[in-house]
Amino acid sequence: MSVFQNIVVLTGAGISAESGIDTFRGGGGLWEQHRVEDVATPEAFARDPDLVLRFYDERRAAIQTKAPNAAHEALARLDARWAGELLIVTQNVDDLHERAGTKRLVHMHGEQLSAWCTACDQRSRWTGSLIDRPACPACGMVGYLRPDIVWFGEMPYHMDDIYRALNRADLFVSIGTSGAVYPAAGFVREARQAGARTLELNLEPSEGSYWFAESRHGRATTLVPQWVDQMLGD
Ligand code: NAD
Repeated sequence: MSVFQNIVVLTGAGISAESGIDTFRGGGGLWEQHRVEDVATPEAFARDPDLVLRFYDERRAAIQTKAPNAAHEALARLDARWAGELLIVTQNVDDLHERAGTKRLVHMHGEQLSAWCTACDQRSRWTGSLIDRPACPACGMVGYLRPDIVWFGEMPYHMDDIYRALNRADLFVSIGTSGAVYPAAGFVREARQAGARTLELNLEPSEGSYWFAESRHGRATTLVPQWVDQMLGD
């Protein structure tokens, strides 16, 4: 039996790496092929919308060919069976957590499979491309749909819910994230201040490793199922 009740899990690109989705900063990572300023800022979208739309169109098509891995599945098992509070906060914009069956999930950096209409402010599920400027399914306006992605310089989603959960957590677990992007990189300190135990599961020590009470290093598909077994007493 676990001594913990309320858990917050933060996931990053590392949990999807073994599903074949590039991380941001690793070898061959996304940002080695594109400068972040060219594709992931509001200024880039204003300057060269075709470049930005094409970049996200390619990524949106690619993730639909990938499948959840054993780490996503283990977290879905934890979600289904954990009787205490649980919030899984993902920085990922892929949909592999939900395809594995996770319900108690928030996407703090938005979602690839969503388009946001800046004319009517509605969000629509989107699996196709945006480069041809399709009409918004909600208001019919043409030319206002953008990827529903939180770009650098924009406010992440669900921050009130996330900080509320962090302040109630007695266990905070960070999986597959480099600890380089704020505010997510600061969650470990927020949870510590609230008295939570902190655990990092990552391929290598992250930039924020120092802040964790415990770090386990290895592949997410090995470490996450092991940790979930431990939590569920399996
Ligand atoms: P990151 O690329 O900065 O860091 C990934 C971390 O995962 C690294 O520390 C790396 O050592 C680790 N890692 C790599 N392979 C792993 C494996 N098999 N098992 C365990 N750990 C592994 O990614 P981040 O910290 O999530 O960066 C934040 C930004 O990346 C976010 O804004 C997020 O939206 C974006 N992003 C999302 C996706 C996605 O949706 N899948 C992909 C790339 C980037």
